[in-house]
Amino acid sequence: MTEKLVVIGGDAGGMSAATQARRLRGARDLGITVLEQGPEVSYSACGIPYWVGDYVTDRDALIARVPSWFEGQDIAVHLGARADDVDLDAGVVTAADGRRFPFDSLLVATGGRPLRPKVPGLDAEGVHGVHRLADGADIRAAIAAGAKRAVVLGGGYIGLEMAEVLLDRGLDVTVVLADPLPMGQLDSDMGERVCAAMTRMGIAVRTEEPVREIETDDDGVARAVRTDAGRYETDLVVLGTGMGPEVSLARAAGLRLGSTGAIEVDRTQRSTSHPQVFAAGDCAQTFHRLSGEDVHIPLGTHANKQGRVAGAVIGGRAARFAGVIGTAATKVCDVEIGRTGLCTTQAQKAGFECRAETIEGTTKAGYFPGAEDIAVKVITERGSGLLLGAQIVGGPGSAKRIDVFATAIWAGMTAEQLAGADLSYAPPFSPVYDPVAVAARVVSRVEQG
Ligand SMILES: Cc1cc2nc3c(=O)[nH]c(=O)nc-3n(C[C@H](O)[C@H](O)[C@H](O)COP(=O)(O)OP(=O)(O)OC[C@H]3O[C@@H](n4cnc5c(N)ncnc54)[C@H](O)[C@@H]3O)c2cc1C
Repeated sequence: MTEKLVVIGGDAGGMSAATQARRLRGARDLGITVLEQGPEVSYSACGIPYWVGDYVTDRDALIARVPSWFEGQDIAVHLGARADDVDLDAGVVTAADGRRFPFDSLLVATGGRPLRPKVPGLDAEGVHGVHRLADGADIRAAIAAGAKRAVVLGGGYIGLEMAEVLLDRGLDVTVVLADPLPMGQLDSDMGERVCAAMTRMGIAVRTEEPVREIETDDDGVARAVRTDAGRYETDLVVLGTGMGPEVSLARAAGLRLGSTGAIEVDRTQRSTSHPQVFAAGDCAQTFHRLSGEDVHIPLGTHANKQGRVAGAVIGGRAARFAGVIGTAATKVCDVEIGRTGLCTTQAQKAGFECRAETIEGTTKAGYFPGAEDIAVKVITERGSGLLLGAQIVGGPGSAKRIDVFATAIWAGMTAEQLAGADLSYAPPFSPVYDPVAVAARVVSRVEQG
């Protein structure tokens, strides 16, 4: 008899799993059904800011694959199909419209849930999340309708990307955040560089000002953001206040949640409480390779890889997710930001005695047109010199350098080993010694006294 896989959630985690399982098992062996509550599958949330900014003008360019492509792979896709109930004992998912989908294996890939500060006015017209393509369409419509001022709540990467594109669209932009600095995953000295650069660009940054209220006009439309320190009039409020796991369905079904609140899985993405259930992407907990801690770091890179692992295991091939080290890149206008591994406070919390050094350099040979400033911070373990983390803030060409550190950390290299690595050089790309190598050399020299 044909086995049945049901996938709940049709984006990065869900569709990676479905396609990988199909690669390994034919349709006669494994029936695959995807339930997606929204109007599309396989879309790029990551591209929404750049669509709002008009860098990408065609909405459909953000959709990697349409349902007919999956149907061609014998993967049945149901759009507008919200899974409302999972009966794990009976092995049945029930959709909101009452349809029942029996399963032998279930993949939960319900994604993330934007965190929303609990303040009056947050549900008002004119307050926009940035999560699904429809949110991007709403913000574009608000700009087209004449919005001139925007307040972005939150200083993480979504907040920064939205600040950039709104500024680029000609709006006055204020970023209001509860934290002391934007990009809380950076050490404060690196966060200060980001904050100063944003201010230079003309973005007003209001730090340590938790939002207290969204004030509305008589028609219930958001008109100002109020904090203890100020009141910022606006035509548009954008939420960039972080992402938690969307686990309401999983919780109701009785799946075990981990210490982060996301679905607890083993390294094959299998639920630790129900062996026929898998979870992948923003709804799933994972582990940090350096600290060993359970973490929830909602990123598309993890969602795709975890989905692939789950799909492989369901397809009958051994596979394991190798964990994360928190590698991420973003930009705000001309300033690029990259980070990987543990920041200083994380390293200390994880029990490492650490050393940190920061160097300044240029992205190309100093004399080469377009050479930009770059700051590189490296964190190592005292004594062993083992690389624990790195952060980069600099001009164009800076952020992707973080991948060199990520690879070195993944491979368990010391700063000294990285300093001696055979990295490329040509004037349009780097100085003779790339700032990555210089930073590694400086911290290893300090280590050696
Ligand atoms: C603005 C923005 C920018 C980003 N930029 C980056 C980036 O640059 N780099 C990066 O690595 N990551 C980035 N991310 C994160 C990345 O988009 C997510 O990590 C990734 O989309 C997670 O994939 P997922 O499949 O787990 O969840 P999602 O993409 O959230 O998909 C989950 C799907 O499940 C559906 N669903 C939920 N509940 C149900 C239900 N009960 N029934 C049926 N369907 C359901 C949802 O409608 C959704 O389509 C960004 C995210 C945002 C919002």
